[in-house]
Amino acid sequence: MIEPSQTEKGELIVLSGPSGVGKSTVIAQLLKIRKDIHFSVSFTTRAPRPGEVDGVNYNFVSKEEFERMIAADELLEYAQYVGNYYGTSMKVIRDHLDHGVDVLLDIEVQGAGKVRAKCPEAVSIFVIPPSLEELSRRLHGRNTDSEDVILRRLERAREECRGCGDYDYIVVNDTVEHAADELRSILISRHCRTNKRIHLAEDIIG
Ligand code: ADP
Ligand code: 5GP
Repeated sequence: MIEPSQTEKGELIVLSGPSGVGKSTVIAQLLKIRKDIHFSVSFTTRAPRPGEVDGVNYNFVSKEEFERMIAADELLEYAQYVGNYYGTSMKVIRDHLDHGVDVLLDIEVQGAGKVRAKCPEAVSIFVIPPSLEELSRRLHGRNTDSEDVILRRLERAREECRGCGDYDYIVVNDTVEHAADELRSILISRHCRTNKRIHLAEDIIG
């Protein structure tokens, strides 16, 4: 196992993709293998879905608390999505990156654009479904949103996919295992870049 250099910072990994494409599912699969990655738990004003746990899936907060966080400049980025606020805490992210830990954000495209602008060194990955029909099937199959919310999410999905050209990588979530494998390969290759490994060559050369 190659050790990171003392000064090496963690990678900031931004993952986006339309609602229902399977981001949470693929991330859960990846985190089973890569327990060293810190998944950033976002703040949201959306109500928890059945089975979602406060502090694990999201930090569920009121609109007032979210607006206080915006005013206090505590968020790296935030966006409104289908009637709710979603945002990323600046402090938690920075602490992990400074300690050399990779941090994974699951955020929509507006937020991803803000992160890219503030942190150009971040790696950005867009997850697409095999087809729009399959996306609709997954949103319905998840059974967590009303038909009205599903239609709004599908409408938003088309807009979001138009922005995928701004990302560094595109992963197709055909099967969870395949998508998680692609994600893992991207992350491995990031750590093999010359700027991350040059200190090892310098150790040899002396
Ligand atoms: P997102 O986090 O992108 O909104 P989820 O991870 O909640 O999406 O997945 C939406 C639904 O699609 C869930 O019911 C999940 O089990 C299902 N799903 C995820 N990936 C796949 C896949 N590769 N094939 C079939 N169903 C999938
Ligand atoms: P959901 O309600 O399905 O959990 O998430 C809706 C959308 O919000 C998804 O596209 C998800 O990636 C995005 N999202 C989750 N957390 C954040 C966040 O902290 N910031 C932004 N900008 N989007 C987020």
